[in-house]
Amino acid sequence: MSEYNKPIDRDYFKKKENPKWNAEKKVTPCCEQPIDEDFLFVNNKEHWEMIEEHIRQYLHDYSKTESVTPVSCEVCHRLLEYTTTLSENAYTPGYLRK
Ligand SMILES: [Zn+2]
Repeated sequence: MSEYNKPIDRDYFKKKENPKWNAEKKVTPCCEQPIDEDFLFVNNKEHWEMIEEHIRQYLHDYSKTESVTPVSCEVCHRLLEYTTTLSENAYTPGYLRK
């Protein structure tokens, strides 16, 4: 089979851009996140401001949400997910109160 006769996937282009890119090492060893995707890092001041803004917006949009926790990897500080706590007594905008 010709070497051209093969599927070209995302990895192909990653490798093309960076010959040292190793298809085996696709995830971080600490939190198993795709190593070449864009992540927010909680220890990066700019990223943290974006995270704060996201939470501010989220709390604004979801009135029953009491708090939002940005969960990050303790080793590399990648933001992994947000967890939220709900509260029955959470603030409800006046126009929604009965
Ligand atoms: Zn990590």
